[in-house]
Amino acid sequence: MQILEIFFTPRCPICGVFQDSNNFCYECFSSVEFLNGGCLKCAEPFEYPVPGVEICQKCAELNLGFEYEMRAAIVYNSTAKNLILRLKNHQDFGLVQLFSHVLRPILADFKGVSDVVIVPVPLYKKRLVWRGYNQTSLLANVVARELGVQVVHALKRVKNTNSQAMKTTQERIENVAGAFEIDKKFARFLTNKHVLVLDDVITTGATALECAKTLQNGGVYEGFGNNIGEIGGKGSEGLGKISEGVSKDSGRESKIGQNCGPRMVTIVGIARRLRHFR
Ligand SMILES: [Zn+2]
Ligand SMILES: [Zn+2]
Repeated sequence: MQILEIFFTPRCPICGVFQDSNNFCYECFSSVEFLNGGCLKCAEPFEYPVPGVEICQKCAELNLGFEYEMRAAIVYNSTAKNLILRLKNHQDFGLVQLFSHVLRPILADFKGVSDVVIVPVPLYKKRLVWRGYNQTSLLANVVARELGVQVVHALKRVKNTNSQAMKTTQERIENVAGAFEIDKKFARFLTNKHVLVLDDVITTGATALECAKTLQNGGVYEGFGNNIGEIGGKGSEGLGKISEGVSKDSGRESKIGQNCGPRMVTIVGIARRLRHFR
């Protein structure tokens, strides 16, 4: 095989075997476990699905005081782990497109829905500087483009939390409590929106739920018209669309000030770590 052929021949993104397209090869595709259904609040698959039951016992007893749903596309097995770590730690940016494909079935309902915005789970500033990028933001940009919606970097991570690994659910919840704040510059873009909080791996959901809680509780409305150009950062598209929305809504300024939290939050993760694997 010539050197150029090696560069340009499509490969399986997981095992690297040469083939006809850049999709998964057959063996690797069979190692990706897609999640269908499961609990609407924690995305954990039901051990024994009962028709009509959409929320697991644990979540039914948990009242967080706001509306949310949680979905994940695939099981966090060794294949998913390998792919996510490659994106996270080895700048394998080609995987962003692949993950956006993987997420398509669970995001299909949001396609073309104009009152949806995507908020990626942010990294702590130091970690962002160290890594150079937030893999979830990269994914958010691609997903937003596909759905025709905006990315709003509405959250800041204000606490550098310890690793969540090896912690119980309760410890995880305590560990991330107060870890996020709303970036008030962008709070107004959440007004009456259905927010998709995007994360890479969902374990207990504690981190993403803390994001959802922060968005719901901290929707402090600040005056219109500032910083429109800053929204979404480099990868965000459709600033024209935002400006339209702002000018159209500007007459409602005083009323919106009373309540500007998001209407509902859907937490979306690429992969869900299942309880029995922990
Ligand atoms: Zn393969
Ligand atoms: Zn549940």
